[in-house]
Amino acid sequence: MILGKEILPGKGAQLSLDVAKLHTTTPILIPVIVERAKIDGPTVLIMAGLHGDEINGIEVVRRIIQKKFNKPNTGTIICLPVFNIFGFLNIRRELPDGRDLNRSFPGSENGSLASQFAYHFMKEIMPHVDYVIDFHTGSAQRSNFPHIRCVFEDQESVELAKIFNPPFILNSSYISKTIRESVKKLGKKILLFEGGKANNIDEMVVEEGVNGVKRFLQYLGMKSFKIDISKDRTPVFLKESKWLRSPNSGMFHSVVKNGAKVNKGEVIGMITDPYGRMNRKVRATSTGYIICLNEAPLVYKGDAIFHIGKELKIDENGTK
Ligand SMILES: [Zn+2]
Repeated sequence: MILGKEILPGKGAQLSLDVAKLHTTTPILIPVIVERAKIDGPTVLIMAGLHGDEINGIEVVRRIIQKKFNKPNTGTIICLPVFNIFGFLNIRRELPDGRDLNRSFPGSENGSLASQFAYHFMKEIMPHVDYVIDFHTGSAQRSNFPHIRCVFEDQESVELAKIFNPPFILNSSYISKTIRESVKKLGKKILLFEGGKANNIDEMVVEEGVNGVKRFLQYLGMKSFKIDISKDRTPVFLKESKWLRSPNSGMFHSVVKNGAKVNKGEVIGMITDPYGRMNRKVRATSTGYIICLNEAPLVYKGDAIFHIGKELKIDENGTK
């Protein structure tokens, strides 16, 4: 039984997570699409839109459903394409109460609106799930180069991230009250995908997301795809990351591409004024890879403009 309905083997259904009402008493129903194979197996939840304006992830889940990749040969696949449906309708990251749903877990029944969303999710969906893949983008104009975030000490998560095969895998500790922390506390596995920027659909990022899901499902034996292993890459492991902030207010020009390798001291951007007088060079503060590039043309001093990840070399840590 999930969301009050029994899904028989070989069947699927679109269900609703009923979490809130509009001022007009109209219920807000969050569509949840469940497909169960005839043969038992693991249950994978593929979700996006925890932040309502992160459309790129929503497109990944939509494409998986549209291509019927969510109909497994074994086990069950649950798709939750848009979790923060309020934010999606308003093209906003947060819920109407201004709260970040991803800082409201595990939630409470009578807490804030965000807290209620988290509570119903944890109570009605998570008990059925073994693995979660949660799709995110950078906020505002900050565009993430596709990567999976996980804790490197957690070997199984690292192995799953490698199966997903993104360009980068970033060591990222648990943040309090996030879905990732709550799912981990249940002893279940979650992969957090970051790619693209808010309010945008980036085809390269969507493909990375869809291909990662295909690999993941194939690895679990839930579905078989013709995956071209000649396109396999070795993901770059990043042990830590740091934001580089703009040294001035002005117009921002990056001279490197997102995902590029940069060397400490190298000029990677320029800050200019509209009058042709100021040309301030921005140099890389460390050697590493650009994993997020701010695509805003105008920045204030102190705005995050480049996110640089430092590579973990194999000999530094045998766990890779
Ligand atoms: Zn997000």
